[in-house]
Amino acid sequence: MADIKNIPILMYHHVMAGDGKLLPDDSSFVSLADFKAQSGVLLAAGFTTLDFNELGLILDERMKAPVKPVIICIDDGYAETLKSVQPVLSGNRQKAVVGLVTDCIGEFDDWQKARKEYYRIIDEKLVREYSGLCFSFVSHSKTHQFLSRLSDSELEKELRDSKQTIEELTGIPVNTLIYPYGDRDERVKAGLEAAGYRFGVSISAKTGYVLEDPLDLRRVYVKKDESIRTFMRKISPWYLWYRGFRRR
Ligand SMILES: [Zn+2]
Repeated sequence: MADIKNIPILMYHHVMAGDGKLLPDDSSFVSLADFKAQSGVLLAAGFTTLDFNELGLILDERMKAPVKPVIICIDDGYAETLKSVQPVLSGNRQKAVVGLVTDCIGEFDDWQKARKEYYRIIDEKLVREYSGLCFSFVSHSKTHQFLSRLSDSELEKELRDSKQTIEELTGIPVNTLIYPYGDRDERVKAGLEAAGYRFGVSISAKTGYVLEDPLDLRRVYVKKDESIRTFMRKISPWYLWYRGFRRR
């Protein structure tokens, strides 16, 4: 039985059709072929995908933990990415958690300078449609800023407004925020708690195991052109344990 305390939480940003070599020169662009292979290997290895509301129920002992839990996170909510992965996930009866920047719904994102089509974020209609399919939407803030640099009132707005917007759109409670750029400190974490969040998702974290600090969850960065061997190694129990041992 896998250890829920060291649940692997995967981090994706872009998944696009086409050869990896033809995609933008950035490690966050994973080819759809690689994503399909990774989704397939998770299924074959007996992993069950969870969302953060289910993780909360499991921690409260109101739901049974699957033998091999995993959470697939997709940051930013790019339309092209979500349209690409939706049939793959639905076909494998899997789900993913999408971090939405609520001021950018239906627009290009604000923080990438290039106005490329793959930076367009899904619109409200798709958020509603997809939340009934294989996606669970969580907050990735309102405007994608470094949260630790904001004033108390700006921070509160980023946390509360984004949560409220998604809850109104989907009708599903939002208990999680993915920190833009993985940026957080003790004040930001306290702000999350005050705004009603249970989980805060980082990139790396100096904790002993993944769920040690629910407001600072480390993730596994799935990079472009990653081999299945590397992918499986990075989600293996010993590797997750090792990262906790190294506190990174
Ligand atoms: Zn982001």
